[in-house]
Amino acid sequence: MSKQLPKRSEDYSLWYNELVKRAGLAENSPVRGCMVIKPYGYAIWEKMQRTLDDMFKRTGHQNAYFPLLVPRSMFEAEEQNAEGFAKECAVVTHYRLQTDPDNPGKLRVDPNAKLEEELIIRPTSEAIIWSTYKNWIQSYRDLPLLINQWANVMRWEMRTRLFLRTAEFLWQEGHTAHATAEEAVAETRQMLNVYAEFAEEWLALPVVKGVKTESERFAGALDTYCIEGMMQDGKALQAGTSHFLGQNFAKAFDVQFANKDGQLEHVWGTSWGVSTRLMGALVMAHSDDEGLVLPPKLAPIQVVIVPIYKTGQLDELLERIRPIQMGLIERGISVKIDDRDTERPGFKFAEWELKGVPVRIAVGARDLDNGTLEVARRDTKEKMNLPLADIVNSVDTLLTDIQQNIYRKAYNFREENTTRVDSYDEFKQVLNDKGGFVVAHWDGTAETEKRIKEETKATIRCIALNEPDEDGVCMVTGQPSKRRVYFAQAY
Ligand code: AMP
Repeated sequence: MSKQLPKRSEDYSLWYNELVKRAGLAENSPVRGCMVIKPYGYAIWEKMQRTLDDMFKRTGHQNAYFPLLVPRSMFEAEEQNAEGFAKECAVVTHYRLQTDPDNPGKLRVDPNAKLEEELIIRPTSEAIIWSTYKNWIQSYRDLPLLINQWANVMRWEMRTRLFLRTAEFLWQEGHTAHATAEEAVAETRQMLNVYAEFAEEWLALPVVKGVKTESERFAGALDTYCIEGMMQDGKALQAGTSHFLGQNFAKAFDVQFANKDGQLEHVWGTSWGVSTRLMGALVMAHSDDEGLVLPPKLAPIQVVIVPIYKTGQLDELLERIRPIQMGLIERGISVKIDDRDTERPGFKFAEWELKGVPVRIAVGARDLDNGTLEVARRDTKEKMNLPLADIVNSVDTLLTDIQQNIYRKAYNFREENTTRVDSYDEFKQVLNDKGGFVVAHWDGTAETEKRIKEETKATIRCIALNEPDEDGVCMVTGQPSKRRVYFAQAY
């Protein structure tokens, strides 16, 4: 606690890593690329899960659970998907260990326990789920099938970073089946909107909704929709994806339904997911050099009360503080009283600041006698004296204001760092000087996209849904373009 965090302006990456660890969100584990999510971090993830889960249920989805391991032949069935994920697959080859005769006290794989068919640890679950859907779907009456799974997946990522990119991560994956292409597209877009609403209303993160280019598309999808947020270093972060799968998986797994005329047709599919990466987005979008800044709606502790007292007077003061806590709890606000007798108030202030608790109330006997409390907000660090008599209403309003303020700040930052350019020189200049989103015309070819990526490390984040049509020419090749697209360097 005594040690200062690295500053964002000096080393953004180090600041992020240190903050995640020191705030008690997560730490690296002995397993390559895999993290331990600590209780405070997991409490935030649980709030995210609960909120998203409610949103999925409200849009008609049900939860189910499918196996972690996928037989290789099943995994191979949809070729594009298999090829796309092949390089990141962990593979189970044996089912037993035995003591090693050459190395006493050590174990080795039992050569007689080799699996006839290897099992893939799921990097995503389309294969196992569509092989199951074959048995669940026979007629148009079985559609739509709207399923979500909360699970862990594994992708053997080469360069990992806590929350943002780990080898094993937690996520939800929705997998739906529909009678028509139109319905499947509507579902894909609906879930994109659910993600955007969650990002903006809960994470306080403004996002650009759009469609990926072909080269950034999910393997096996016809279209990948995404939401893209901007972090405080100007880099983009893909915060969620929703895929229109066409009939690819239905054809690969022979999932057909009898339509109302009794004819067999392949069903149409979607899949969509957000992961523990959202935890990284939360930290990178809002936090500062003192620590986390959590949006109240996702903060596990929304208000911390720090008693200010002289030795021996803690118990008496706590008696007087508890009714304040109760009042706030009755309003649905989560409150912690930091009653540790072993730490000084200054230490406690710094610790709760590091942990991003939105509101801190310091309470001494004299404040209670005077009927005013010292309230500090984490986002602006402003302090104010508020009447005790109306404290529940004031804190409630304050929490709403903090949520909005955090969003507004992130929104303004994004607007200030979104630049429209018309030439490739200007494009490079902007990326070099300030980064952020650069909105420019592109000729629609993978070659130009690749060249831009190689020369500037910027990728096309998306073709934004709300970007108006505009005749122009590609900034690199001068070929005609109908619309600008969003470029950025990304995590
Ligand atoms: P995808 O299945 O590739 O569309 O990814 C679904 C979601 O998981 C997206 O929101 C990604 O941002 C996220 N994601 C992909 N790879 C990782 C990873 N290695 N660690 C954490 N999140 C990831």
